[in-house]
Amino acid sequence: MKTLRAQLILSHVLPLLFLLPLLIALLLYILETQVLLADLKAELANQAVILAQSAQFRAVVFQDRTEAQLFLENAARDLNTDVALYNVNSAEWVALFNPQSSPDAPTQNELAALASGETLLRADYNIDPAQIDAQAFAPVLNAQQELVGIMRVQARIEQVSARFTQLRALVIGSALFATLVAVAIGAWVGARTARRLNAVTQAITRVASSDAPIVPAQNMPQEFRATFDAVSALRARLLASEVARKRLLANLVHELGRPLAALQAAIRALRQGADRDDALRQELLLGMDEQLERLRPLLDNLAGLHGELTGALELHRAPLALSEWLPKTVALWRHAAEQKQLTWHQEIPADLPSINADADKLAQVLGNLLSNACKYTPEGGEIFLRAGADAREIWIAVQDTGVGIAPEDVPHIFDPLYRGSTAPFGGSNRFPQGMGLGLAIARDIVNAHGGRIEVESEIGKGSCFKVRLPI
Ligand code: ADP
Repeated sequence: MKTLRAQLILSHVLPLLFLLPLLIALLLYILETQVLLADLKAELANQAVILAQSAQFRAVVFQDRTEAQLFLENAARDLNTDVALYNVNSAEWVALFNPQSSPDAPTQNELAALASGETLLRADYNIDPAQIDAQAFAPVLNAQQELVGIMRVQARIEQVSARFTQLRALVIGSALFATLVAVAIGAWVGARTARRLNAVTQAITRVASSDAPIVPAQNMPQEFRATFDAVSALRARLLASEVARKRLLANLVHELGRPLAALQAAIRALRQGADRDDALRQELLLGMDEQLERLRPLLDNLAGLHGELTGALELHRAPLALSEWLPKTVALWRHAAEQKQLTWHQEIPADLPSINADADKLAQVLGNLLSNACKYTPEGGEIFLRAGADAREIWIAVQDTGVGIAPEDVPHIFDPLYRGSTAPFGGSNRFPQGMGLGLAIARDIVNAHGGRIEVESEIGKGSCFKVRLPI
């Protein structure tokens, strides 16, 4: 029963096997009692009435037994039934034709019913056709309409048996035929379903081993098409995560490579005697410290990515006085910008409202935006940090006069691991791009605060990122 085909055959045949005996028994009972037996009774009654009518005009039959026997044999010659004639006056059966057994004397009730001209029928149904006893009694009346005799016609056992056996063979034969047809249909449907399932399995195997698109066959049933769609969706997700994995690795190698190479160079210089020169040693150590400091935001962003993947972005909100907090938080970036010969403009009103926010996370957002502004703006450029508020929200804008973002990149820059196509500074790549995580994480943090980030940018002119947070 392990194959689909066997299970389908079984599912087609099992209900039949359970129901069939019941249905056959019911059908046979109805057919035998309502049709066969009713027919038989009508036939017997018919014969009895005809025989009684011909006896009616032969009074001699009720005077002489031999005449009676002669009459009966003559009249019932062509009938295949057991016929008997009763003389009411002498109260005895006076003639028998084809007798199977000696008939019982009629009861008073039967005599009374017959005297009123009624034809009586007696039939006992039995599962065994040999036990079925069917008889008809017709009254023989004289000219004065008095009951003088009774004509009894009884069905012959072998005749009844033959009729019932024939019917049973027909019904049971049809049922067996239906079962065979069900097995055949089950086998056919099973084979077809198994073939289609194999096609689906092969398609899925193909998908697993190549990039070929999956096209379901034209006559494929809906359920299998749904499987195809599910597999296509699964493949799209797998491909997307494959792309993300490759991007992550490439970005990591790229981001870690530079500071590590710088650290290695500094260490080599120190080992080769640079440590003997105090000023040089200080300079090298400072440089190493700076390189390590550069790795910190990378780690923060990687931690953010991990949080995003595990869905664990937890905020520790506290009241935050923006007018005081903002200048302190951006001081480090002001210093970095000025070191890069960028002019720093700052407009932070002293009456900004307090908001309920996670200060560390918000500092990470500003850090990512300001680090991008510094990174993508050439020396001599400008950076503007502005803040403001209206009735419902506060906003903080980071604007630069850098390379700007290509319009086709704008919809994707907030995607994790996405890096824009504009190489900073006309393709010279003096300043390497980052992990492509900064904006994705900034957006997640701002969204978690119930806010949003907007961006406006023009190639060659600069970009402006605006964070809006509800008060
Ligand atoms: P990255 O670490 O590469 O800077 P981000 O997520 O911070 O990643 O930014 C995604 C992309 O958006 C960057 O690769 C860059 O192309 C573009 N971008 C972000 N900020 C700026 C900006 N101030 N000026 C120009 N391009 C920017």
